[in-house]
Amino acid sequence: MTDQRIHCPDCAAVCCRLEVLCITDTGVPRHLTQQRADGVETMVRLDDGWCAALDRVNMHCSIYDQRPLICRELEMGGADCIAERQRFVVECSGPAS
Ligand code: SF4
Ligand code: SF4
Repeated sequence: MTDQRIHCPDCAAVCCRLEVLCITDTGVPRHLTQQRADGVETMVRLDDGWCAALDRVNMHCSIYDQRPLICRELEMGGADCIAERQRFVVECSGPAS
């Protein structure tokens, strides 16, 4: 079940801060991927945590048609989306005083 009130255009693309494994070849440009120590290919993330493929002006994926399978499967308003949105809010609010 998804939360129908949640829409990507109203979101800061917070799911694009998750580690994204490239488990199939969807045509992601190589300069946007890196290999972990265990050999698994992942999307490069910038120092602030967001994926290097994110268009930071519009907060849209700049490689939408080539995006990894994991990105395609993350459902807007689904459990993982909601969890990441909640985690982002907690991180931004900082420690309670
Ligand atoms: S899938 Fe969820 S977390 Fe990702 S951009 Fe859309 S609303 Fe935000
Ligand atoms: S590839 Fe695109 S959809 Fe996937 S995390 Fe990066 S910017 Fe987001």
